[in-house]
This record gives sequence, structure tokens and C-alpha cells, in this order.
Amino acid sequence: MWQLILIEPGKLVLNKEAKMPKANPGELIVRIEAALTCGTDLKTYRRGHPNWPTPTPFGHEFSGVVHEVGEGVTQFKVGQPVMIAPTAPCGKCRHCQRGYGNLCDYTMETMMLGAYAEYIRVPEHIVPVNVFPKPDNLSYLESAALEPLSCVVYGDEQLTISEKDTVVIIGAGPIGLLYLMVTQLHHPKSIIMVGRRKMRLDTARSLGADVVIDCACTDYFDEVMRLTQGRGADVVIECTGSPEVWEKSIDLACRGGQVMLFGGCRSGSEVHLPMDRVLRDGLTIKGAFHYTPSAAKHARDLLVEGRINVKPLITDTYSLEEYKTIFNRLDSGDVIKLGVDPRFKN
Ligand SMILES: [Zn+2]
Ligand SMILES: [Zn+2]
Repeated sequence: MWQLILIEPGKLVLNKEAKMPKANPGELIVRIEAALTCGTDLKTYRRGHPNWPTPTPFGHEFSGVVHEVGEGVTQFKVGQPVMIAPTAPCGKCRHCQRGYGNLCDYTMETMMLGAYAEYIRVPEHIVPVNVFPKPDNLSYLESAALEPLSCVVYGDEQLTISEKDTVVIIGAGPIGLLYLMVTQLHHPKSIIMVGRRKMRLDTARSLGADVVIDCACTDYFDEVMRLTQGRGADVVIECTGSPEVWEKSIDLACRGGQVMLFGGCRSGSEVHLPMDRVLRDGLTIKGAFHYTPSAAKHARDLLVEGRINVKPLITDTYSLEEYKTIFNRLDSGDVIKLGVDPRFKN
């Protein structure tokens, strides 16, 4: 089968003779129908990933059809369309016992990688937790967005957003735009989106952001302060992964405001915390990592019920063989997400 391998940062190779996986007891083999690119893929392509030593199969957002069922699996059958969140916690460690399955070490160590391929093995511990039947009304491409949406749903669960709130989302990439859609479900007073690529800002506007600020030509800090009469925003959601923006996000929150620091900065990054803001202004500063099984179920419901429509986030679809174009386009920043179709061969 075909499988894309990240040999080292900056170097991808399409192996056209990768070994076909076989299902062990409790496992599934899924024929991938669609995969999606992710910001983490681009970061990993550029500078590597602490949990994914190279060479490694690549890609983790996908959906497909059950191709083989391992001994003992009764809830899925061959030929069944499925959508999958590519991790599951152990259920036994201290984090899992406390309800923080997203922080379980086993979750990241056993993450499924290799969505840019024709087939993929679903490990035994993920099958009963994060594999869901895919309904016909949802395309394979849309279903492949389950993983990033699960992360955003988990982040959203850590915030309390009311109808009186002004929410600022900084970063109009795939994660920022998913936050826009999930935040809209709370019907806040206003959502201000900050970004800097025209096509991404146009997408934010068409998705219903109340105000869109292009930070390439406008000082977003001054603009948010002006729009909130100098008060700051009730909720600030950071989706860029830049320490400078993390600091600005804290500065942008109003007294009693909430700040979600979501964008992963380079490992080892540090930010400066202003005591007056955090203590005297009573800020709530949160981080949110990955997702729990309950967030994945909720995300799945949002997609299946059509309450979140990810179609506007999928800029184009390419064949797996066009992986160089895919990563060049991601690098350019002028796309949101790209679909990858492993069946479509030139
Ligand atoms: Zn992802
Ligand atoms: Zn655990």
C-alpha cells in the first residue's frame, strides 16, 4: 500500500510498497477514504515533534471504511464507514481516574499516525472508545475533522461563555475558525476575530464573525480596546502559538476575564505574567491540551447533527501523490485545511 513517511523535518517520502497492516485481536484495519492536513503536521514537517521520533508515518486526521475486523471485535463490521479520533486514554492512571484522560501519558504515546496512507491500524484500546459509525449525511472529508474539533470542544468546555460576553479569538487558522464556530453556539454578544491572511479573514467573516481585524494593517490591541470602550474582552482565546500573542491575550482580557491559551508555542517557551492583571484584575488563565473521550463524543454529535459545518475550512483536496504541493501550499499559509485522498491516483 501507499504510505507517506516523514523521514526527518523537511523531508517526506511516499513509500509505494509499505507493508499492509493485519488486524490483531481487538483491532481494526481501516481503508482511509479521506484525510485532512493539520497545523501540527506543518509544525512537525518544519521542526519535528517531541512525541513523534522520525522516521514516522504521518497524518492523524482521517475517516474511512472498516477493511478488516480483529478477533473479538463485535461492534464494527467489514465495509462499515467510520470516523475516528486517533487516541484514547488508558483509563487506569491517576490522570484518567481524575477525569483528565487528555493528560494520560499513554494517550500521546499510542496516538495513531499514518493517515496519509491507504490503510491504517486502529489499536485495541481506541476501538471501543473513539471509533464511531459515520452516517451517510456526513462526507468522509468532513468526518476527518473529528480530531481537531474534539480538541476545540475540550478547550471550549474549560470556558464559561455567556450571552453578555465579548469574545476575541486571535488566530484565524483552522483552530481559530473552529473556535469561532463552537463559540457561536453560546450566542455571545460579539465575536471579534483577529488574523492576517485575507482568505482566512474572509472565511471568518462569511462564517459570521461580528468583527474581523487584519493585524497586518491594524493594531489589534488598540482596536479591541476601542471596541470594548477600553475595558478589554470578557473572553480571549489564543490560537497562534506565539509567546508574544500569549502575553497580549492576557493584556486584552477585561477585569474578571477569561483567557484560553490554546496555541502550542515552541517547547521551552516562556511568557511574562503581569501580577496586577492576574491577581488584582482576577483573571482566569487556562490551557487546554488534547481532548477527553467525552469531548470527542460531543464533537462527533456536533458534526453529525450539522451544528458545526467544517466544509468552509477545507480549501482544496489533493491526491496523496501530490504531497509536495500539499506541504508547499500549507507552508504558504494561503489555505485553511487541505483534503488528502489516498484513493485518487494520477
Ligand atoms: Zn490535528
Ligand atoms: Zn491514563
